[in-house]
Amino acid sequence: MNDLPQPIVGHLGADIAGPRNPAVEAQNPDVLIPPATDKGGIPNLKFPFAMAHNRLEDGGWAREVTIRENPSLKELAIVDMRLGPGVTRELHWHKEAEWAYVLAGRVRFYLVDEKRQTLVEDLEPGDLWLAPAGFPHAIQGLEEGTEFVLVFNDGNFSENQTLLITELMAHTPRSVLAKNFGVPESAFDGLPASEKYIFRLPVPGPIEDVRKQLGAATMTDKYVFRASKKAPNTFPGGATNIIDSKSFAVTNMAALIIDLEPGGMREIHWHPDADELQYYISGSARMTVFDAVNNARTFDFVAGDVGYVPKTLPHYIENTSGGATKVINVFSKGEYKDVSLNQWMALTPPGLVQGHLDVGDTLMKALRQSYSPVVKG
Ligand code: MN
Ligand code: MN
Repeated sequence: MNDLPQPIVGHLGADIAGPRNPAVEAQNPDVLIPPATDKGGIPNLKFPFAMAHNRLEDGGWAREVTIRENPSLKELAIVDMRLGPGVTRELHWHKEAEWAYVLAGRVRFYLVDEKRQTLVEDLEPGDLWLAPAGFPHAIQGLEEGTEFVLVFNDGNFSENQTLLITELMAHTPRSVLAKNFGVPESAFDGLPASEKYIFRLPVPGPIEDVRKQLGAATMTDKYVFRASKKAPNTFPGGATNIIDSKSFAVTNMAALIIDLEPGGMREIHWHPDADELQYYISGSARMTVFDAVNNARTFDFVAGDVGYVPKTLPHYIENTSGGATKVINVFSKGEYKDVSLNQWMALTPPGLVQGHLDVGDTLMKALRQSYSPVVKG
């Protein structure tokens, strides 16, 4: 235990005399020994998927980080789901909108909208879909199987409380089902008594064949967005890709996909009207969140962790990995908006800024050149 870092900075702190959890401490160095600038009572804004209960099903699994896992997640919740080859997430819908990002493999997504348009699309890592609230949909792994994350625009969402086609049928009188579909009640003898949720099916056929089975139905693709094909904006230190209602008209959740180079940092900024949910895909990073009055706390993240930033609170994301770090930010509003500290100061009369901060010409000159070696939105 003597080799372990101790919470001692100069005359502040003392060694830990009681029990320790070195593995968790090592992933949270800025929690064990906070920067001197941290202060006060910012609530916890991190929850690792590694600590989220995993629901194991026939050929797949699902785990979620919601307001139940972390009370800060008021406006957004996230699900991580794995489906093996052919394995299907049951036909269902929910009260919240669902924003999806494919992490691995290939996936087939099915949706029907209120205009009786139908969608069957195959998606790859980096691609997105948006299932608006109330629109029925299903998800199926292709030959390679798939993993994806789903973000919902209510922290109270639970993947275990969606409206399922099996349960709708099971809870409707058989005589009503017979009348509704114009068939004898015996047609429903095989209905399952309970939900299927995630279950094995054969790997579906080629997409053209499946679309042909739908005959003259009107096909649409407006609920998917092939973000893997959209060129990012590059900056010194990394690249970003904004996918919001300007490019993906149906979405009511904006997204910012951030790739940080070694040493790169997403600049200090905040979002005026939307909460931000972060999902770390690779590498590691740290973030400080500031709030009035005199509150700041620093968090550390590794791949698979979820971060959260309430609207209007300043934050940055600094790559601490030595390699590349990738993180997606999903917002509770459809249009992406941010305020940059650098740009705010650059657009304010210099005398006014200097009068507040008592800074010399070095900083003021850098602001005038509007250059900073960081990643912008
Ligand atoms: Mn869904
Ligand atoms: Mn942000």
